[in-house]
Amino acid sequence: SHDVLGRTEGGDLRLVGLTKRYGSFTAVDDLSLTIPQGSFFALLGASGCGKTTTLRMISGLEDPTIGQIHLGDQEVTDLKPYRRPVNTVFQNYALFPHLDIYENVAFGLRRRGVKDVKTAVVDMLNLVELGHLAKRKPTQLSGGQQQRIALARALINQPQVLLLDEPLGALDLKLRRQMQIELKRIQTEVGLTFVHVTHDQEEAMTMADTIAVMNHGRIEQLGSPAELYENPATTFVANFLGQSNLIQAAVEGETDGVVTVSAHGQQLKLDAKRCRSTSGKIILGVRPEKVQIATDRADVPAGFNALTGGKVVDTSFIGVSTQYLVQMPSGEELSVFEQNTGRTIQRPGTEVVVYWDPSQGFGLEGTQDIEAG
Ligand code: ATP
Repeated sequence: SHDVLGRTEGGDLRLVGLTKRYGSFTAVDDLSLTIPQGSFFALLGASGCGKTTTLRMISGLEDPTIGQIHLGDQEVTDLKPYRRPVNTVFQNYALFPHLDIYENVAFGLRRRGVKDVKTAVVDMLNLVELGHLAKRKPTQLSGGQQQRIALARALINQPQVLLLDEPLGALDLKLRRQMQIELKRIQTEVGLTFVHVTHDQEEAMTMADTIAVMNHGRIEQLGSPAELYENPATTFVANFLGQSNLIQAAVEGETDGVVTVSAHGQQLKLDAKRCRSTSGKIILGVRPEKVQIATDRADVPAGFNALTGGKVVDTSFIGVSTQYLVQMPSGEELSVFEQNTGRTIQRPGTEVVVYWDPSQGFGLEGTQDIEAG
């Protein structure tokens, strides 16, 4: 496909030791990160973790206290925002209400003194599939359409990096899902670096090639959506991306790549390759959808981990799956998502064995302060 933006070569976006302090409070803490050119990168984290501050430093709206920002072989740390080959799309669209859609998209080019804007504007409107609405005013557009126009208006400036600050936050769930797919399509088509800030793990997982999970101004873990989900490095990540059962365990030994631990007074196994700590107290994590329940111990496949003595305390039927909450004698609760395949649904009060394939568990460092999923 042709280069819709007609850009010059950019390069990787590199943040080096980026720190932002407000008085004695550190909002972004010694952040170093390389965002490869052309990737869809998500900064994911809870409110207040420093995502927006990081984005504002990249765009130049905020000066770092310490650190540098490089784009390709150019350092941009001290460049004014409008000198940087970077554009931002905000949650609130910020379209000009008195201009029609065509003129909104043309705005950046006109301001730079470009005379013949027609081809570029039409290309951009086609890219976001809204060419037929060129004569409308922003108020005559839906939220999703307005967000596409905001995107077209940013892309026409031929940035090397597009920053997206919770761009879908104002949309309802169904529209947000559609726009996630749409944004990913546009990013693939233009091949531009997108840096997307969100607190929504599903949104980050749907769109991003790489996710940086942020916590207290630092990167907790960096990786592809599948890596983060399958191999979370910390209990924070294990809970932030999806749900996890986190079970306090004590390592008993390791043989042939298999770690044996005890938990709830019973022996369980873990794949050593998926253990970040193999001595002392650890946390055994396992996703609810990797866990099953049975009323009879004999139904547990050979070699599987099994925890007995639990009781179903809650059952929710949600169509494709049934979710169980199983309480262990210690009071700790385990979450189980079972596909509905016509099996009997266990009622609250039923005593069950919770079991899973040992290769599906992961081991994390830590002993206490297990945050609830
Ligand atoms: P949200 O999703 O709520 O926007 P965020 O992860 O984007 O959260 P930031 O906006 O980057 O978080 O803010 C990080 C921290 O820095 C917050 O605790 C915030 O209160 C603080 N902060 C941000 N801007 C300022 C400022 N101008 N002065 C003082 N503190 C600030």
